[in-house]
Amino acid sequence: MDAIDVILTKRDGGSLSDEQIDWFIAAYTDGAVPDEQASALLMAILFRGLDDRELARWTQAMIASGTRAELADVGRPTVDKHSTGGVGDKISLILVPLVAACGAAVPQTAGRGLGHTGGTIDKMETIPGWRSSLSAAEVAEILRTSGAVINSAGPDLAPADGRLYALRDITGTVESIPLIASSIMSKKIAEGTGALVLDVKVGSGAFMKDLDQARTLAETMVGLGAAHDVRTSALLTQMDVPLGRTAGNALEVVESVEVLAGGGPSDVVELTLELAREMLGLVGLDAVDPADALRDGRAMDAWRAMVRAQGGDLTVVLPRASEIEIVTASATGTLSRLDAMGLGVAAWRLGAGRARKQDPISATAGIVWRATVGDRVEEGQPLLELHLDDPTRLPAALEALAGAIEISPDPVPAPTLILDRVT
Ligand code: URA
Repeated sequence: MDAIDVILTKRDGGSLSDEQIDWFIAAYTDGAVPDEQASALLMAILFRGLDDRELARWTQAMIASGTRAELADVGRPTVDKHSTGGVGDKISLILVPLVAACGAAVPQTAGRGLGHTGGTIDKMETIPGWRSSLSAAEVAEILRTSGAVINSAGPDLAPADGRLYALRDITGTVESIPLIASSIMSKKIAEGTGALVLDVKVGSGAFMKDLDQARTLAETMVGLGAAHDVRTSALLTQMDVPLGRTAGNALEVVESVEVLAGGGPSDVVELTLELAREMLGLVGLDAVDPADALRDGRAMDAWRAMVRAQGGDLTVVLPRASEIEIVTASATGTLSRLDAMGLGVAAWRLGAGRARKQDPISATAGIVWRATVGDRVEEGQPLLELHLDDPTRLPAALEALAGAIEISPDPVPAPTLILDRVT
């Protein structure tokens, strides 16, 4: 097999054979194919695409670059959720214990934040003692006992994706639907879940800026799940406006605990319950109402059990930033724009996110918005709290907020949260 032949086949619009795909993924993962040739193939795929057979095989080869976990004996049906990433998206922190409290097991493998979107592992790590490098045996044992795990990806979870994703990031080849779909689904299938709900975000703060693109990505991923015996469905949800009222690591943990205690912002509650119902439906637990488990404290008990099982100490108060800078409303009226991208980039620049994988992040930095789109505001009222420990970060964060907020003299409806469902 020759890398140049594989590249030329795709460059000229041909279809890659199963053998070409298996060989290329294995050889690139082992280091036998250099980055230059892998970059050329990725660019050819970006322009030419992959047909259904090629995509299923490409994904299979990525899974086979590591091992697919076996979770059939945890004693409960397994189901997970994956979000394509948004601003203020802390849903997993609430959803994983909530769905476990309803009788399923949730074997979530989560990532760290990169760029303007936050990562579940970064948020959970603000809880002192909490750790996420669990072995396969530890994951299975926790699933058997409490049903809820949030783990970070180990070296055996589709390692081809680690190399390919890093290369896509620096070669302008991230925005390819087959490459995004295979990257996400290879990791989710390899984690061993029996069912999966995808939260595909659409809007300014998301990967997918328009609904048609997002629907195509969702359909592609749902098809890949089915091809690998993972019952999969997707919700398309809006990400023009950030979710909830906070973006930032410890700030989002605090907000999640508010929801688990029966309060919290209504959009976070609504999306969590919709996703929980979708997950429970996929594993035949649709008779259970997750709203009951939020109301009666079972979800909070499952959260405590999940955090403790991973070493977290919930008796310690989470850290707070040393400085809070207030941004006030410039007029009286209805908040008509609160741009997810602007707020995400500002929170990132305050220290909540990282530009490169190896960068440190701040547990405390971030933004609290005291009003959201559709809310009435009065001129001069505090609108945003910018939380930071390093004052030199403030000017760049304020720059990211330019144009992110608009106030209308007319009433404006709250945005529609759930835009479509793909099964
Ligand atoms: N998230 C992933 O894991 N992979 C992609 O390609 C894009 C988002």
